[in-house]
Amino acid sequence: MPNWSNWSGRQQATPEALHFLRSEADAQALVAKAAQSGIGVRAAGSGHSHAPLVPDDGVIVDTTGLAGVVSINGEARRARVWAGTKIYALGRPLHDAGLALQNQGDIDRQAIGGACATGTHGTGIKLQSLSAAVTGARIVLASGDIVECNAENESQIWQAARLNLGALGIVTQLELRVRQAYRLQEQSWTAGFEELLPQLPDLTPATRHFEFFWYPNNDTAVIKTIEETSAEASYPLAEEGGRIGWSYEVLPNHRPHLHTEMEYSVAADRGADCLGEIRRLVQSEFPEVRWPVEYRTVAADDVWLSSAYQRPTVTISIHQDIREDETPYFRECERVFLAFGGRPHWGKVNYLDGNQLAAMHPRWQDWWTVRDQLDPKGIFVNAYLRQLRPG
Ligand SMILES: Cc1cc2nc3c(=O)[nH]c(=O)nc-3n(C[C@H](O)[C@H](O)[C@H](O)COP(=O)(O)OP(=O)(O)OC[C@H]3O[C@@H](n4cnc5c(N)ncnc54)[C@H](O)[C@@H]3O)c2cc1C
Repeated sequence: MPNWSNWSGRQQATPEALHFLRSEADAQALVAKAAQSGIGVRAAGSGHSHAPLVPDDGVIVDTTGLAGVVSINGEARRARVWAGTKIYALGRPLHDAGLALQNQGDIDRQAIGGACATGTHGTGIKLQSLSAAVTGARIVLASGDIVECNAENESQIWQAARLNLGALGIVTQLELRVRQAYRLQEQSWTAGFEELLPQLPDLTPATRHFEFFWYPNNDTAVIKTIEETSAEASYPLAEEGGRIGWSYEVLPNHRPHLHTEMEYSVAADRGADCLGEIRRLVQSEFPEVRWPVEYRTVAADDVWLSSAYQRPTVTISIHQDIREDETPYFRECERVFLAFGGRPHWGKVNYLDGNQLAAMHPRWQDWWTVRDQLDPKGIFVNAYLRQLRPG
């Protein structure tokens, strides 16, 4: 039986078939056949989600073959790309057209389709998630038909598709809002946590990209700021923390150590207090934890299932080595995040049920209504999503 596993190895599946897509026509035929036989279909990007979003015992569809840039409209600042394209493979072609993504996350190994499907984001008080940059999508539906959606055409489907959890169909292409190419300069330094805390209100808005990792073992923070610059790129690029280069060269990092992760978004004005509570919890209950806690910001958006829906956001991520049992630590942190009105990252660990998620997401029912209309038999809903379904 074919096996599938995610990046960390924590999520595994033994589906009936692993299918490697190379064309949209193949996706259409595959989905129509699966729907006829009532077999589930889950698209996979790079398998970098910690949440059990991809595992299914039906067909897991590897979308890596649907890669490349379809078209670029420099004037309108739009790029249409195949959904299986890895984010790292978008940098050069966009740059050659004088363009770039508005922002990127910590790494660039994800497929753009997978990243948008879960609300992947970078950091920056004025910068939204990748899902918010989705201006259009082309989707193979359960019927095998294709829908093109955007703000003018099939706008409800577009709203649901911007952050779709793989549950609307196989997204073959995405149209993204991009901007003119830009260079960035990174700076990094270490400070005691107590020293950093009073500086946060000034540092956060003063910087295009601001983030820090708090290290529990010595109570210090490694702070990183990234600003636009007109300085020439400097090659070879320096180590993380000192790079000057084009945005797609400076924003992504290398994260080789296998871990699992929980991330919650809280209202921006509660971010520092929430982190303070997490710090107290780690210091008093989990002194053995060595992995850092990451603090980032994301601008508000109007994406239905976004963790930054209608609220400026601070995201706080906790990590644990993949060889350790993260459950007691993550569960206690989740209690803190929930007390601060947190919403979980869709691609990372959480222990919530559908009622809790519904209460956090004002457009939860709308999203499910659109989804269920497109796929009444639920072939794109795996076991994990099924238990979240309303009613
Ligand atoms: C080391 C590491 C660093 C990370 N850094 C960040 C970060 O900085 N910021 C952040 O926000 N997140 C981060 N994440 C989380 C990650 O960005 C998300 O989990 C993202 O979804 C992974 O993309 P993927 O291509 O691996 O998708 P997968 O995990 O393979 O799939 C995710 C979802 O997308 C769906 N999907 C994928 N492709 C398609 C398609 N073509 N059509 C329909 N549905 C599709 C799947 O069905 C699934 O529901 C990180 C994860 C890791 C492991």
